[in-house]
Amino acid sequence: MSNIENKVSYLDNGDSTRMLPEVLEEILPYLSEHYGNPASLHQFGLDAEEAIDSARSKLAEAIGAKPAEIIFTSGATESNNLALNGLRYQFPDKRHLIISPIEHASVDNIAKRWSREGWAEVTKLKVNSEGFVDPDSLRSAIRDDTLLVSVIHGNMEIGTIQNLTELGEICREKGVLLHSDCAQTFGKIPLNIGELPVDLASFNAHKMHGPKGVGALYIRKKVKVRRYFEGSPQEHGVRPGTENVPGIIGFAKAAEIAIRDMDKEMKRVDELAGRLADGLMEIEHVGFNGPPVGKNRLPGNVNITFRYIEGEAILMHLNIKGVYVSSGSACSSTTLEPSHVLTAIGLLHEDAHGSIRYTLSRLNDEEDVQRALQVTNETVKQLRAMTAFIPEKHSKHVDENAQTFYKHKND
Ligand SMILES: *Cc1c(COP(=O)(O)O)cnc(C)c1O
Repeated sequence: MSNIENKVSYLDNGDSTRMLPEVLEEILPYLSEHYGNPASLHQFGLDAEEAIDSARSKLAEAIGAKPAEIIFTSGATESNNLALNGLRYQFPDKRHLIISPIEHASVDNIAKRWSREGWAEVTKLKVNSEGFVDPDSLRSAIRDDTLLVSVIHGNMEIGTIQNLTELGEICREKGVLLHSDCAQTFGKIPLNIGELPVDLASFNAHKMHGPKGVGALYIRKKVKVRRYFEGSPQEHGVRPGTENVPGIIGFAKAAEIAIRDMDKEMKRVDELAGRLADGLMEIEHVGFNGPPVGKNRLPGNVNITFRYIEGEAILMHLNIKGVYVSSGSACSSTTLEPSHVLTAIGLLHEDAHGSIRYTLSRLNDEEDVQRALQVTNETVKQLRAMTAFIPEKHSKHVDENAQTFYKHKND
């Protein structure tokens, strides 16, 4: 590694991760000598088909599913689109959709579009201040014409991990399908989708040290989903188009490694995140967003509000000093809208704008934590010194309460 690279702390693993060398090694032959189309009937084609079949079996095993229940896609965005639109075309009479208010943009924007176009009525569930979906709001939202309930498993911004067993049982009771976006949880926490009351689930590779541009949709046997774009009959006729063979091979490898090392690596990542969170909470006028580290929260996720400063300003200063983070989520950080996740858990717009997300992975270490703490401290001081107005008297009480509350929650 170069010197410059050593001075960078990449703490944006919630947006994407570095591919592991073992994964890259597995992929390389499929970018060179193994170039057959899996649909071709000669030896090169058969070899490619066999490689995909084997990857499908590995991946199915990794999530506790059957190979026939896995559809390879271009990523979690496509998987979410295929799940929702696939069901829409399968059940055109069901015109009611239920989602959580903290979904990834790829689900949230489908809901917005269906509602705008008059295709479906959308109900958003209630979440509490840590982002957990209120089961009662789900129970009372389900109707006879409900097409689907879609609830993200691990939230990309505040790390909340939903109780899919509880939510899925409510859906089962009422005879409604449940889809869950598992892009953030897969490879980080144990996941046995076959045993959960979940009917469809979305995954991708690049959040778990695999390649970008590849993902999967799990569709439980007996659940019918109609393809929503046309082509040849790949992927059981549900997802046409020549498969991303190298991507699929890398995805299966990344999943295998993540599961093999999960206990050890995720424990270490959570310890790092805990120290980072504790250190950041020592700074004045801060708020801690989401559940306590280590308790139904994605390993490595820390989300902090720095009051009276813009998140973008912090992000840019940290960037110059070699600490890479994100404000809100990458998808919303180019707009001026505050993060819909942070506002859903009750943050004021100005507090949502002052929030920074640090996401650690197995490739981070104590040095990254120390650098992030030092650089964030300096940056916050600098930016606050430029801020004309800090309502000291008014906020002091509130902030002290926030810090006491944090300590109490995390003991
Ligand atoms: C990253 C992410 C997505 C989008 O996945 P792509 O593979 O980049 O399309 C969807 N949902 C969640 C929860 C994510 O974190």
